[in-house]
Amino acid sequence: MTTTAELAPFRFFDLRVVRTRRLGPSMVRITFAGEDLKDFAAGGRDQSLSLFLPHPGQQAPVVPVDAGDGSAIFAAWRALPDDVRAVMRSYTVREQRRDPDEVDIDFALHTVTSAADAEGVGPACRWAQQAAPGHRVMVLGPAIAENTAVRFRPPKDTDWVLIWADETALPAAAAILEWLPAGTKARVWLEVPHSEDRQDLKTAADARITWLVREEGAPSALEAVSGAELPEGTPYAWIAGESGSVKALRRHLVRERELDRRRVTFVGYWRRGVSEDGLREEATAQESSDM
Ligand SMILES: Cc1cc2nc3c(=O)[nH]c(=O)nc-3n(C[C@H](O)[C@H](O)[C@H](O)COP(=O)(O)OP(=O)(O)OC[C@H]3O[C@@H](n4cnc5c(N)ncnc54)[C@H](O)[C@@H]3O)c2cc1C
Repeated sequence: MTTTAELAPFRFFDLRVVRTRRLGPSMVRITFAGEDLKDFAAGGRDQSLSLFLPHPGQQAPVVPVDAGDGSAIFAAWRALPDDVRAVMRSYTVREQRRDPDEVDIDFALHTVTSAADAEGVGPACRWAQQAAPGHRVMVLGPAIAENTAVRFRPPKDTDWVLIWADETALPAAAAILEWLPAGTKARVWLEVPHSEDRQDLKTAADARITWLVREEGAPSALEAVSGAELPEGTPYAWIAGESGSVKALRRHLVRERELDRRRVTFVGYWRRGVSEDGLREEATAQESSDM
């Protein structure tokens, strides 16, 4: 989720869908292009951005492009009427390419198997399911590669890396694995709904990857990590995905495994039963009460 403090090195990019490709039952890769992309500078790893989507019936998302920067953009966006202002959601740059300038974003598709699940299909998921060449989005994304929306930052003295991600953080974990220097020892758990959601991931790291496939009855994130024998040496942990799992894992790593809390990067990418708008409202209320 983008908070006001993160906005400084970012600007708006006007993008269009050029193609879509289904990666598995729960994931679609959407490739975007646009004149503006020549100035887009992703920092790799878990580089995130704010994606602005049109409401059904709108040709293009309504965003305050001339609001300035930083918190002014966020305030101007909030000031627009709910049913007019674009839907804002956080996503990850899975890959940026040059010649031609393109950016891939992988969208997790929440499967609906019951009436209760239907509430779990938010506007971004619905948009991704129907995305087609020519559809327009705006992105508040990085104009410089060194920016605060890259959170995977192992300290120099790291001996090995621990990664846990669910399907929403799989694009980030995949990009992190591509970025890790050759030979880096990594213990990785990737949780996905279906067997065919497993992906072939490229890495030069010495990575041991365990897929936790929910439909195959895989153990929970906490069961899998707490039952594992971990490598010797000084770790750095990056855990991202559903907030409840992230919290439980962080607590386990800090309390039971006694990892220094400064060596654990943890990000709740979504919370069961709460939309990203709801999470943003909570964060804004928290920021105001901290002032
Ligand atoms: C920094 C960051 C980077 C992210 N990168 C990615 C990415 O690259 N790809 C990606 O797919 N997601 C990513 N996410 C997660 C994504 O922003 C959320 O899943 C978001 O809630 C999707 O918006 P929505 O409009 O579909 O659902 P919302 O309107 O936000 O939520 C509607 C309902 O859906 C539920 N819900 C949300 N996500 C899921 C899910 N995956 N499964 C089941 N129920 C869900 C919510 O709990 C809520 O009840 C990222 C999040 C953050 C904070």
